[in-house]
Amino acid sequence: MESRKIWFKGNIVQSTDAKVNVLSPTSQFGLNIFEGIRCYWNQEKNQLFAFRLNEHFDRLFNSCKLIGIKCPYNKQQLTEYLIETIRVNQYHEDIAVRMTIFVDGEGSWSSVEPVEMFIAPITRKRTLPESLNGLSACISTWERISDNCFPPRVKAGANYINGRYGHLEALRNGYDLPIFLGRNGKVTEGAGACLFMVRHGDLITPTLTSSVLESITRSTLIDLSHEIGIKVSVREVDRTELYLADEVFLCGSAAEITPITSVDKQSIGSGLPGEITISLLHKYLGAVCNVGRKYDQWTMSIY
Ligand code: PMP
Repeated sequence: MESRKIWFKGNIVQSTDAKVNVLSPTSQFGLNIFEGIRCYWNQEKNQLFAFRLNEHFDRLFNSCKLIGIKCPYNKQQLTEYLIETIRVNQYHEDIAVRMTIFVDGEGSWSSVEPVEMFIAPITRKRTLPESLNGLSACISTWERISDNCFPPRVKAGANYINGRYGHLEALRNGYDLPIFLGRNGKVTEGAGACLFMVRHGDLITPTLTSSVLESITRSTLIDLSHEIGIKVSVREVDRTELYLADEVFLCGSAAEITPITSVDKQSIGSGLPGEITISLLHKYLGAVCNVGRKYDQWTMSIY
């Protein structure tokens, strides 16, 4: 286990010393919401940049509102605690930071307090375009959670149990990961990442009302694709369109850009990561590292 200090209920502690009550709603029922934030080391500038904090905090507040807990902190405090946690560990490399708000104490699934938070960083290297590997996906037999039963718009720990069913099934059947269909039979997303495909030179992604998380990477890639002159359509996606696509990839703060080179054993395009996928990854890595200062509004220097 990586030795690191985390922010836990207002104090910096060794991660192994952070304890929660086994009877807490977070422990018993997964009553927590979280964000996974990436920070990238820019070697030339000798600086560590956090990516799109503002959007992550907005989504954290939305998740709190929807799941019915009060976030005890504002954006300024969240930023301050995040910086404190990273500084105390003195990272000079790419990291991922988990910020989790949870219901502590000895309560039930309907408890609304006490609300606590932890902030835990972990080293995580970026995906290098030159060593990009395509993964195999299957269409899961498990349906994606949906807005009227278990809203995927909320980034709740418990949502990932749906992802788990799909992921374990995919692995059992010899695939790397699942792609979920929604209640209406349309394509939604992966277990922890949103989906794009390329057809006839256009980039296509399901709408935000297609049982998906309101992904920050998805929104970033929509902006970046305009910069490289690629048209984006946001619309419903059929399963069979994936089989016919020239390129398919998943995206997320953790996944960055993950090419999918087969779906249900049907080869996608050339069977290798596609050209648009690779150029978007280059563009994305430039943006997250604040290359050329063009992406100042998306990045915040930690040190
Ligand atoms: N969908 C799901 C289910 C996810 O867990 C994630 C990762 N947070 C994403 C999409 C991508 O979201 P983001 O780009 O904001 O990380």
